[in-house]
Amino acid sequence: MTVEQDITMPIATQELHDFLSDLLGSSGVIDDPAEFARYTTDWAGDKGGDPWMIARPGTPEQVADIVAFCHRHQIPMVAQGGHSGLVGGAQPDPERGELMISLERLNRIRHLDPINFSMSVDSGCILQNVKDAAEEADCYFPLALGAQGSCQIGGNVSTNAGGLNVLRYGMMRQLVLGLEVVLPDGRLWNGMHALHKDNRGYDLKQLFIGAEGTLGIVTGAVLKLAPRPQTSRTALIAVPDIASVLALYAQARRSCCDLLSAFELIPRVCMELAFEAAPDLPDPLDEAHPVYVLMEVSASGPADLDTMIEHLFETGSDQGNVLDGVLASSETQAAQLWQIRESMLEGQQMRGEHLRTDISLPISSLTAFCDAANHAMAQHSPETQVIAYGHIGDGNLHFNLLPPANLDLEAKKALLHELEGVLFDLVDAHHGSISAEHGIGRVKQVPFLEDLDETEYTLLKGLKQLFDPEGLMAAGRILPR
Ligand SMILES: Cc1cc2nc3c(=O)[nH]c(=O)nc-3n(C[C@H](O)[C@H](O)[C@H](O)COP(=O)(O)OP(=O)(O)OC[C@H]3O[C@@H](n4cnc5c(N)ncnc54)[C@H](O)[C@@H]3O)c2cc1C
Repeated sequence: MTVEQDITMPIATQELHDFLSDLLGSSGVIDDPAEFARYTTDWAGDKGGDPWMIARPGTPEQVADIVAFCHRHQIPMVAQGGHSGLVGGAQPDPERGELMISLERLNRIRHLDPINFSMSVDSGCILQNVKDAAEEADCYFPLALGAQGSCQIGGNVSTNAGGLNVLRYGMMRQLVLGLEVVLPDGRLWNGMHALHKDNRGYDLKQLFIGAEGTLGIVTGAVLKLAPRPQTSRTALIAVPDIASVLALYAQARRSCCDLLSAFELIPRVCMELAFEAAPDLPDPLDEAHPVYVLMEVSASGPADLDTMIEHLFETGSDQGNVLDGVLASSETQAAQLWQIRESMLEGQQMRGEHLRTDISLPISSLTAFCDAANHAMAQHSPETQVIAYGHIGDGNLHFNLLPPANLDLEAKKALLHELEGVLFDLVDAHHGSISAEHGIGRVKQVPFLEDLDETEYTLLKGLKQLFDPEGLMAAGRILPR
């Protein structure tokens, strides 16, 4: 085993291997480093350390047995879902050996109740499969994000995932009715309640949502469903500036009868990135404009969505907030508009090293924040390109930065690190958050800790201590180990 970490495993490698293969069979354990790459290199190409081994349990009880064994032998462990997280949380810690517990084989849809609008699933179910199963029962699981073909429900729970439909349906925190979790000592907690209302004291499940696997390994979830939308309309609207985007948003919430399910900000520079990644994508409007909004309105029953959007276009134009726009006339055209949103991420990735952020601000502060941040970036590094897009209806911006292409990699990293500090100070000054959806993981730990006051830090540390006093589970994520 080629493990270069500076601590050795508390028991013999062979003992761990024997235990895992007795429990899971030979396909349930991976110990050949040649097969680690899929689990250690993430979507962005960042590489974590190598794990000691990878366990692939297929039942909650097997997860519990593995965790109990690790607890008994003081073996550090980390859970991995679809490995689409963007803050290095599921990557093995490069400085400390860990057993990786992959949930990929824990992937059964357990039960769907179309009258209770709920669905219980194993945590390793891929989000897209859950959405498809809900649709087959004329229901809808609204979580929607670019990685939905690979991310898992357990990962979505543990990162409190957001995505495109948050403004209508909420984040994962609002979409979970019950959870089943293996605690760091191996106990299996069954909180798989399918109740829409339940006020029995502390709401334990909420502690695990967004905990990034630091308090337990999620093995099952009861998800809240919605009626399946029967009709939806997608529109791309050109607007002059951010202030107009926000004015239009406030108007759209009202005039679309609260049926707005997505409201995304796409500056022109992002559209250009989308065309770089997908050259066959048509430019939807005749002329280029500085800023666009991509919005979707949907309804599960009869509703005149066209009239709503046309009315929004008209009043928006009268008020100077709309310059031009297109209402998709077919599903193909709507899909093309959404492909711009997806392809711009690929285009950004193709440009190489860049700063990714997922900040949030009170929606009404976005104009002032963007002005201040654009000004600060222009002052500090005029050649750095700002790529600021996002789920504007949630106040969530991906204020990303592309450094000048002529710098070498080290210089780019140093510049982006400096600019991140400037940006986060401005987020602070505008009472925002440095993480609206990706979480803290290992990547954002330093700025996160800088922001905590002593009371918060003491409470968070106490919580970790209560669940995992030995610091065996996902140590070093969110809080330092
Ligand atoms: C192209 C792209 C677009 C994205 N868009 C969005 C977006 O719009 N909104 C958004 O919120 N995120 C987005 N993400 C980030 C990512 O998809 C989410 O964070 C997702 O919820 C992670 O799920 P996963 O199964 O891949 O988790 P992983 O990456 O495997 O793990 C994430 C964290 O959760 C822990 N974990 C995983 N499974 C479990 C479990 N069963 N029990 C306990 N802990 C566990 C891991 O240890 C790790 O800390 C995007 C990512 C990509 C690549």
